[in-house]
Amino acid sequence: MEIKFIGTGSGKTSLKRYHSSFLINTEMYNLLVDTGDGISRALLHQKVTFDLVNGILISHLHPDHYSGLPSLIIQMKLIERQESLDIFCHSSQTDFLRNFLYESYIFEEKLGFKISFKPFEQKETTDISAGLGFIANQNSHLKHNEQFDKSGRLSFACNSFLIRVKGKNIFFTGDIGDFSDLFLFEEHKIAIMISEITHLSIEELLDSFRRLKPEKLFITHLSEEDEVLVSKLSYQLPSAERQKVVAAFDGLIVKI
Ligand SMILES: [Zn+2]
Repeated sequence: MEIKFIGTGSGKTSLKRYHSSFLINTEMYNLLVDTGDGISRALLHQKVTFDLVNGILISHLHPDHYSGLPSLIIQMKLIERQESLDIFCHSSQTDFLRNFLYESYIFEEKLGFKISFKPFEQKETTDISAGLGFIANQNSHLKHNEQFDKSGRLSFACNSFLIRVKGKNIFFTGDIGDFSDLFLFEEHKIAIMISEITHLSIEELLDSFRRLKPEKLFITHLSEEDEVLVSKLSYQLPSAERQKVVAAFDGLIVKI
């Protein structure tokens, strides 16, 4: 069982990193978390065949997290995939994503494989396969956008996740809004924490790391500016912590 970082970049397109995404690989099931712009190319880059992905989990609807979805599905068609593909998204976003695919001329009859939407509710456990499941929790990342939705038709579901792999908890912050979002799963023992760094300070991240006490912290969603800050981090940490805090990079594999 392993986690493979497919992309570790921020929302800013970069030649050095693809947008934030990772693949959880278990013997039974391979779950791709987020499919931002360029995801198909990022997977190719990491030698992950499109067939390998059994399901996709979408954290929220910012383009660096979901907009590569139709293109990825087309790539799956082009390699003549047959196995059905699961898409896990918040229940309030299923219709939009279905339409997004439909209006991209993606029709199941033409694809040759089934797309199975699996809407989830926050705070409820979603079981994916034996030993793999997750709980989503609402964070405040999209809160400041609510005032602009004059028509009142948008979903502001934005998730942090506790992903359970064979009894181990992986806390994925997703994109957050403020410091308190880092504690959405604080009642759980966390083995691995995967945190973004774009919307919080290094000090806040370290503070949460010390309070949540994961065995390892992987920092992702890095802009080039963040990268400079994070590279200096290891000099500031006591040696016991230095081994536990890792700046993720595209292609990094973490054994679970
Ligand atoms: Zn983002």
